[in-house]
Amino acid sequence: MMEAAVASARPAERASGQPVEARTRCPCCGSGATRVLWRADGIPVHSCVLLDTAEAARDFPRRDLELAICESCGFGFNRIFDEAAISYSPRFEESQHFSGTFNSFARSLARQIAQNCAVAGKRVVEIGCGKGEFLIELCEVGNATGVGIDPGYRADAGRLPPNGRVQFIVDRFGPGHGSLAADVVLCRHTLEHIADVAGFLRDIREMTGLGENAWVVFETPDFKRVLREGAFWDIYYEHCSYFSAGVHARLFRQQRFEVSDLELAYDGQYIVQYARPAPAPTGERLPLERDLDELARLAERFPDHTRALVERWSRFAADARRGGRRLVLWGGGSKAVSFLTTLRLSDQVAAVVDVNPYKQGRFTPGTGHRVIAPRELPTLRPDIVLVMNRIYVPEVRRELQRLRLEPEVMAV
Ligand SMILES: [Zn+2]
Repeated sequence: MMEAAVASARPAERASGQPVEARTRCPCCGSGATRVLWRADGIPVHSCVLLDTAEAARDFPRRDLELAICESCGFGFNRIFDEAAISYSPRFEESQHFSGTFNSFARSLARQIAQNCAVAGKRVVEIGCGKGEFLIELCEVGNATGVGIDPGYRADAGRLPPNGRVQFIVDRFGPGHGSLAADVVLCRHTLEHIADVAGFLRDIREMTGLGENAWVVFETPDFKRVLREGAFWDIYYEHCSYFSAGVHARLFRQQRFEVSDLELAYDGQYIVQYARPAPAPTGERLPLERDLDELARLAERFPDHTRALVERWSRFAADARRGGRRLVLWGGGSKAVSFLTTLRLSDQVAAVVDVNPYKQGRFTPGTGHRVIAPRELPTLRPDIVLVMNRIYVPEVRRELQRLRLEPEVMAV
């Protein structure tokens, strides 16, 4: 059995003072057997929006989070998620495409999808396409055409090469897009932002233009890794839904898809799943789907393990400051925002480094840390660089070497 952990007696409050009613039923399978694993109070409602001043960043709207897990299907969700607090807009800057490590992963995934789904001459609809980098890459490499849908799409001058293959719709995907004809539906790093995951899948399944030979390809962060590592920095407000490979496949099967391939990619951090529409719900048949016992074990260990990690990193940051050692974080995305706000860090961290020029010079929501370019590091002379995703460590080391800096490099 999983331990009921940090359940709080105090109801979460909206800015209006109205409590958010906790969802006690699993939004994925409808089971009432859910329990709270983790709680984060007063965290910024967005972590991909960067602010123009430190003051605006510290005044950013906040809400509470209660991570619950369903004992029936293993789904994780923020049971007091307030959808009204969230609004995705072109102010968003989520792109990871300024990192060489990420780009080489994206390129090889684009080639893999192009081949597996034989996209040549076909139309790819990407739901949650962000700034469109991946869709353009896929359509170029696979000789396909594309439609990208995202409320945060923004065409920055000079950001992407001109192309005639891909169009963009600045909107949130919903039933209104049901008539889009798609040979391939692609959805990367979006499902974890959706509260009504079953409804979202139904909207895709019911797209009238989705033929029986269509492919549906999803990429979603792996919850099992978050549980295993006690990765509290991967739990934040925008992520209201958490999937293991098994949870992911179970949801698709229940919503009339045949899941044909399921794998973990990017150092085991992301689930990549290929599925096709089916006439009726389908049954489990892939090895990665059988993960309920493991999820239960990981969930049981998670609260104590993660609390100990929070204490360890708090102590680490306090010791660094006491010892006069300058600490910077590398990676100005959601992980850094969650790390900073969960640990309530302020001047223990001198700055946050990010290679994305659209983030530089701006401030992290919640704590108001400045995001700087790597080229500013020689002036700052950090003693410790804490990398927010271990996969970037080799890239960060190379960059530091190029800048002739030799700080201690660590990863969360
Ligand atoms: Zn469930």
